[in-house]
Amino acid sequence: MAGELILIVEDNEKNRKLVRDVLQVKGYITIETETAEEGIHLAQESQPALILMDIQLPGMDGITALKHLRADPKTRDIPVIAVTASAMMHKREAMLAEGFAGYQNKPISIKDFLEEVGKVLEAHRGARAAS
Ligand code: MN
Repeated sequence: MAGELILIVEDNEKNRKLVRDVLQVKGYITIETETAEEGIHLAQESQPALILMDIQLPGMDGITALKHLRADPKTRDIPVIAVTASAMMHKREAMLAEGFAGYQNKPISIKDFLEEVGKVLEAHRGARAAS
């Protein structure tokens, strides 16, 4: 849904710009950072509707960051999509088992990426409405 706030955690400038541009064209509002540590802080402060989390990051990695987000009542209900280089061979099932709400390979396919973002946002809105 246009107007929803999405937090991008990605250390690669080109990947960050692509994701930001694709989301902004669709009417989403984005904030971004290059590190998991700052991402956790921004999530607490800004309460985004969704977080896009790179797995390989300088300092804390994306999987550890997810555990921190899940442990904090302020951020535990925010869905997080893992975005990872396909060379890393992270399997979708393994990432979902870690607690990610979705999974995308880099380089992203814009169509698949936007479908997944829309699907996860919708599922999360549904979960909220049901509770
Ligand atoms: Mn990275």
